[in-house]
Amino acid sequence: MNSVSENTVPTALTIAGSDPSGGAGLQADLKTFSHYGIYGMTAITCLTAGNTQGVSEVNPIDPSFIRQQCQSVIQDIKPSVTKTGMLFSKETIVAVADDLATISCPIVVDPVMVTKRGDILLSKNAQNYYIEHLLQLSDVLTPNIPEAELLTKEQINNSDDMEQAAKRLLEMGSKSVVIKGGHQKESKNSNDLFFDGNEMIWLTSKRYPTQHTHGAGDAFSAAISALLAKGKSLRQAAEQAKQFIIHAIKSAPGLGKGQGPINFSL
Ligand code: PLP
Repeated sequence: MNSVSENTVPTALTIAGSDPSGGAGLQADLKTFSHYGIYGMTAITCLTAGNTQGVSEVNPIDPSFIRQQCQSVIQDIKPSVTKTGMLFSKETIVAVADDLATISCPIVVDPVMVTKRGDILLSKNAQNYYIEHLLQLSDVLTPNIPEAELLTKEQINNSDDMEQAAKRLLEMGSKSVVIKGGHQKESKNSNDLFFDGNEMIWLTSKRYPTQHTHGAGDAFSAAISALLAKGKSLRQAAEQAKQFIIHAIKSAPGLGKGQGPINFSL
């Protein structure tokens, strides 16, 4: 992993989509960065019309303009860490990979594909572009279970399957992985799995009964990014980010008519 840069304050660039309701996407990333005292920057990949009830429309930004945004940031303020979120199209994945190849900082790839409610955030079959272009650039890959299944092309039914998937994702090129287990609704616990090729660690907490988890996956990856920017090890970043998410879900403000946002103001 590249070392973090020596800015006066730690900085983070998120290359992600906009959620106008403020709970997910780049808005969740920026709020999480601020929580950790990180100076956040954005390259916007697409605009969504979305809220706590779903995403009704996606308006993608031209990939060449996404690159222009990335370059204007990078040439001015060096990111201590870079995170990718919703990329939406194959063309954007390729363009972003080209930019990431020129960036010398830790890279966190959140392979955003579909919302908890089933709205599509990645075009059909574009997961193969993640496999070809982004996995080998990622220091940390943070899929949820459906995303890990699409990337590995294997079903995940239990914790053994999750461990196999983590190993497979490293074989496929990622340097470490945090598989977010929040989608296992039938389980009493919320079990996330960290693997860096050396240590495999379960991050376990009681499942808190709530519908207010909109953006929790984005914020988990953003918290890992922020903690890496602060110089934490991969393992520390994963463990501390998990604690942040537990508290942010427990104290969710209860906004909106659907799955409300978590609490970023801890
Ligand atoms: N909107 C945007 C722009 C996102 O990037 C994401 C997740 O990455 C979502 C919505 C999904 O939010 P959730 O599934 O947590 O409700």
